[in-house]
Amino acid sequence: MARYTDANCRLCRREGQKLFLKGERCYSSKCAIEKRNFPPGQHGQGRKKTSDYGLQLREKQKTKRFYGMQEKQFRNLFDKAERRQGKTGDNLLILLETRLDNAVYRLGFASSRKEARQLVVHGHFTVNGKKATAPAMELKAGDVIKVKEKSTNSPKFKEIKEMSITVPSWLTVDVEKLEGKVVAMPRREDIDTPVAEHLIVELYSK
Ligand code: SF4
Repeated sequence: MARYTDANCRLCRREGQKLFLKGERCYSSKCAIEKRNFPPGQHGQGRKKTSDYGLQLREKQKTKRFYGMQEKQFRNLFDKAERRQGKTGDNLLILLETRLDNAVYRLGFASSRKEARQLVVHGHFTVNGKKATAPAMELKAGDVIKVKEKSTNSPKFKEIKEMSITVPSWLTVDVEKLEGKVVAMPRREDIDTPVAEHLIVELYSK
């Protein structure tokens, strides 16, 4: 699948906020948002006015980029959210959060969602004891995500064993075992991604 390969920091500058796409760099003074918080391009500093449509579009783009998704994937997920009971916006965020790549990131096993996706694709994880290589896999309450036995001795995961990791309330982590669990499905209030999901619902409802 085609992926956006231009500088990730441009995406953050376009959205005017940190999307945390580059791991540790995002927490350092090298972060482009710290240095140049205006849209990229020749007229970046001149763009000010935004229509309702523009705001809705930006919110959708921002959310998509936060979770590293392509348009079609994102739209499909939105349609799935719409078919479920409850608020579509809440459902969408819950579906985004419970993707395997996001959970790996939230568990602290990767420094960014992009890295999490790579680690999943390269077969470093199991879910409920079975190898899981699909970043989009939808997790449910009770699922156990574990670093595959063979991968636990890699420097990357050895380092994680020494770390203290804070996870959202819907997850638990055991760094010694390199294992995490979905203890409950996340609720909207458990998700701290700065997204105004009603704008996405408005956009797709046109
Ligand atoms: Fe975004 Fe991270 Fe680049 Fe900062 S360093 S602009 S948060 S990707």
